[in-house]
Amino acid sequence: MQNDLVAALDIGGTKIAGALVDSDGRILVRAQRPTPAQEDGETVMRAVSEVVGELTASPLWARAGALGIGSAGPVDASAGTVSPVNVPGWRDFPLVERVRAAAGGLPVELVGDGVAIAAAEHWQGAARGHDNALCMVVSTGVGGGLVLGGSLYSGPTGNAGHIGHISVQLDGDPCPCGARGCVERIASGPNIARRALESGWRPGPDGDTSAAAVAEAARAGDPVALASFERAAQALAAGIAATATLVEIDIAVIGGGVAKSGDVLFAPLRRALRDYATLSFVQQLTVVPALMGTDAGLVGAAAAALGSRAGAAAAGVGG
Ligand SMILES: [Zn+2]
Repeated sequence: MQNDLVAALDIGGTKIAGALVDSDGRILVRAQRPTPAQEDGETVMRAVSEVVGELTASPLWARAGALGIGSAGPVDASAGTVSPVNVPGWRDFPLVERVRAAAGGLPVELVGDGVAIAAAEHWQGAARGHDNALCMVVSTGVGGGLVLGGSLYSGPTGNAGHIGHISVQLDGDPCPCGARGCVERIASGPNIARRALESGWRPGPDGDTSAAAVAEAARAGDPVALASFERAAQALAAGIAATATLVEIDIAVIGGGVAKSGDVLFAPLRRALRDYATLSFVQQLTVVPALMGTDAGLVGAAAAALGSRAGAAAAGVGG
């Protein structure tokens, strides 16, 4: 059967993953390379071409009808270019054109990685069945994507749902993005760890100062560690509540390394949400952990490709 599969690329600062995915979201073929993130743009592109080359060499390639890319951002889907913060060799890099050439002219759909995660959670994960959802990743950074009215809403340039850079503290610390007091500046893993250390938390004998170590200390009752998670939870709650109040989402899904902290994050987050999501139409808002694992980016890129095709409804994407 022709065109019953899609190809997917998940491009991040550490790895470039590729797959052939069927219309049920199953990954049939995989390829992966490390991202030579500090090299020049052509060297990074060579790694992408190698991944695509492995996919095109598969006997299943003939069945692929489209290719979806979820890329670290910012992306510009309207121009087909990407400028990932952590891949300095790519600035306004014409990724769509280059991948289309490598993929033998298949139609290519580009979205930001946060949008891809939202597509994956909506299709196969915790936001399944929800027509209005915010899906977030809280790890080294804070990203996200939106499902509105039953469809993925990626925005004109593919970056909509970028909740990490909504300001929730008007006079807060400067953020690398240029604004102040962004959700990410307070709630990302490195910022949770930084705040704990600045407030006097000290790591155990292993010297681990990651957010995971702070979470461990918080679980053991360390008040400084607990306070750092409480603050992160407040920032996330304020951002989620603002989003819900603007566009009436009824669920927020949170994945990423920091979300693995479990109740250390989710308990104060649900409490804080009651303080910020106050109007009648957002009071039913729920916050749940993500269900998709490490393949979320690939599955989401596949969903974006399927969603861009006429057959998307038949494949169940977006419904
Ligand atoms: Zn920012």
